Amino acid sequence: MGLLSNPLVILGYHGIVDDHRDALDDFCFVDVNKLRADLKSVSELGWQLKGLREGMSELAEGKLSKPTVAITFDDGFSSVLNRGKLVLEEFGVKATIFLPTRFVTNGRTLWFTDVISALKRTKLKEFVFLGRAFRIESYVERVQVNRKIQNFLRCLHPIAIDEMISELHSSLHLNVTDVKSEFAIMNLLDCERAMSSGVFDFGAHSASHAIHSQMDHAELSREIDESLNMISSLSLNCPLLYAYPNGRRQDFSTRCEEILARNNVACALTTIPGWNFELRKRFQLKRFCIGRNTNISDVLSSWRWRFLGRLV
Ligand SMILES: [Zn+2]
Repeated sequence: MGLLSNPLVILGYHGIVDDHRDALDDFCFVDVNKLRADLKSVSELGWQLKGLREGMSELAEGKLSKPTVAITFDDGFSSVLNRGKLVLEEFGVKATIFLPTRFVTNGRTLWFTDVISALKRTKLKEFVFLGRAFRIESYVERVQVNRKIQNFLRCLHPIAIDEMISELHSSLHLNVTDVKSEFAIMNLLDCERAMSSGVFDFGAHSASHAIHSQMDHAELSREIDESLNMISSLSLNCPLLYAYPNGRRQDFSTRCEEILARNNVACALTTIPGWNFELRKRFQLKRFCIGRNTNISDVLSSWRWRFLGRLV
């Protein structure tokens, strides 16, 4: 198989903003012009765009007629519908959205966007958090503090992260009630509209977005089951797809693969960069996370990726 097949490259976006400064230059938010430029580059570089499901089934059957790119969005940001949908329609391509399903019903936002929002909204020029003083007078200082706090919180258990976010809000003198977030997650009605538009379909991305390697077996089973239940009721009759939160090699394990297999999940996506030449490791598909500085021509034209993809 491998030697004759064309590759499937999966690109992983998150939220879409009008201007990257709106998200303090956070890696997870690209502006709408970057998305458009990326999709344009795909065809200029001689690749074709296909929906993820179609791309995967053609790859499995060895029928990909050209090197192929599929587009995904993690975390279900409403901005993907508001800003991304038009761009996808321009290029006539379908994208798969991976939802952290509990956020669809509870109206809450993801912790890392709470950090960005809090740093943008506060009137303070400096503050103390966890015994450390931070200066946030200039834009550059806010960008740096956002990165530092996210890096620290990312390795904690989800319950501890929630407590830290409350602590951060009080350190920044912010009242969080009744704030409509620009980083909102789509609700159930949004999801149904997105499905019926024909531009999007859905996969599961856990329930609470907790990193799987930090959970015990019972917690992990509940997370994955809850997420898959919601996605199967949303996308009836479609094979189930999954994307691991964070998705690096250390963020999931074979325990996850066993639970996914038991639930008849077809494939799972990582954020391990690389080209896919086959679906043999169907619970470890490779994917490039795209940030505002990611150069698509590096992702699609580098012989390094072609070579590495052949080795597995
Ligand atoms: Zn995510």
